[in-house]
Amino acid sequence: MRKYLVLGAGISGLAAALRLRELDPNSSVSVWEKSDRVGGVLHTVERNGFQFEQSTDNFITFVPWGLNLCAKLGLTDRLVRTNNRDRRTYVARCGKLYPLPDGFMMLAPTRLWPMVTTPLLSPLGKLRAGMELFLPRLKDDRDESIAQFARRRLGREVFDRIVEPLLSGIYAGDAEKISLLATLPRFCEMEKKDRSLILAMTKTQKAARRAKREEESGARYSMFVTLKDGLSALAEKCAEALPAGTLAFGREAVRAERLAGGGGGPQWRVTGAAGETETADALICALPSSEAGRLFAGSVPEAAEFYDSIPQTGCAVVSLAFRDGQIGRTFKGMGFVVPTKEKGSIIAGSFSSHKYPHRAPAGYTLLRIFVGGARAPHLTELTEDELLEQVLRETAPLLGTKGDPADAEISKWPRGMPQYHMGHLGRLARLGAALEKEPALALCGNAFTGVGLPNCIHTGELAAEKVTRCFESE
Ligand SMILES: Cc1cc2nc3c(=O)[nH]c(=O)nc-3n(C[C@H](O)[C@H](O)[C@H](O)COP(=O)(O)OP(=O)(O)OC[C@H]3O[C@@H](n4cnc5c(N)ncnc54)[C@H](O)[C@@H]3O)c2cc1C
Repeated sequence: MRKYLVLGAGISGLAAALRLRELDPNSSVSVWEKSDRVGGVLHTVERNGFQFEQSTDNFITFVPWGLNLCAKLGLTDRLVRTNNRDRRTYVARCGKLYPLPDGFMMLAPTRLWPMVTTPLLSPLGKLRAGMELFLPRLKDDRDESIAQFARRRLGREVFDRIVEPLLSGIYAGDAEKISLLATLPRFCEMEKKDRSLILAMTKTQKAARRAKREEESGARYSMFVTLKDGLSALAEKCAEALPAGTLAFGREAVRAERLAGGGGGPQWRVTGAAGETETADALICALPSSEAGRLFAGSVPEAAEFYDSIPQTGCAVVSLAFRDGQIGRTFKGMGFVVPTKEKGSIIAGSFSSHKYPHRAPAGYTLLRIFVGGARAPHLTELTEDELLEQVLRETAPLLGTKGDPADAEISKWPRGMPQYHMGHLGRLARLGAALEKEPALALCGNAFTGVGLPNCIHTGELAAEKVTRCFESE
């Protein structure tokens, strides 16, 4: 019987294991997991009627892989759309929150009037942003950082006050270093094709309006969805769908060696921290890059080098449950972002129970506040009490919160966010060339082509497809 070994029982490893079972149902699949639970980063805590998501909040629906996995696991009817009312995002400026200009999408506006009237920009900043309509396109294919690109197209003010905080809120990274081509390639394409981002975005606005009308007239999903039972349920359902004995907990992989493999024997041997070993015909590594590099130092140095080249930033999620009267101001929105120039430790926050009302009982508002990231990685070293105190000190003037929260949950992710810095695509291409010579090895996870949940699922599934291909002729 063919034997596959998967390392890591986060969503990438679980998606890989499920796909292996689909493609090669008579095989045996073993998954090594260092901790005592599945899900990795995904972690939902339910208490006193609150649903605290400790990391991942929801996932996008405009790529299919997250929705498809839910369908495969029978979870489609547990999907929850974002609350259609109050979709606004706010941006902090001089200690107050202002609405993001309507239609601003990550790096560019789709509507001009909200840009003209926004209090977030000065008249000069608005004028400079408007000049984007007339700027020429870049003549070569060089990779730029998101900061360079946004400043070149829209000016320093739009970058500092709008683009930088939006980007930090998602990637917790440093926009001066993050590669545009690796992270938001569609904006390079827009510039190439239409020259001006504003023109390109306004052109697509019609299509977006049409899509919105369709959504309002009954399309199934909003741009983001989550699971009624919390996102841990996704990992738990994957685990339930695997045959008993597939998951081996408390197994920390420390070395992966290629075996001589002649005569159809196993091709890979993995050694664990306790000296235990397991051999397999094919190996899938679904570990975070901070862990995976050391495994391949002696067998596939290109893989070790790639993993070691990925910087990680840390962040913490502080969830706060307030009684209704404790939040002094009314915000009709999903969340807010805070520019680095505002100098606080908060990167972003979401009005979690506005977005998904099932997450808090009536009479309460659940906030999720992100702190740290590239701008203050040391914050993950604070104790939970220190973090709570710091966040409460900053939310009071910003949101008008009063007193202690009725409940709180804190989770720290010291190396939770891989960063695709400039040159990432070149490093990825070199890794791809090296892996072509390794048909019985595949790597997946969030270090490659996207950090979001659907992308991780997709890399896991592709990894399974790659390693099963090498046995197709047998
Ligand atoms: C705070 C935060 C918020 C996020 N929010 C969102 C969001 O809203 N939407 C979204 O789409 N994405 C979000 N993400 C990103 C997304 O959740 C992750 O990229 C994704 O879950 C990573 O899954 P993974 O399986 O690749 O890795 P992980 O979840 O890290 O899983 C790896 C597994 O490997 C195990 N492991 C580690 N070392 C070893 C070893 N040596 N041997 C054996 N096992 C080992 C770990 O214990 C873990 O279980 C967020 C991430 C963070 C940190």
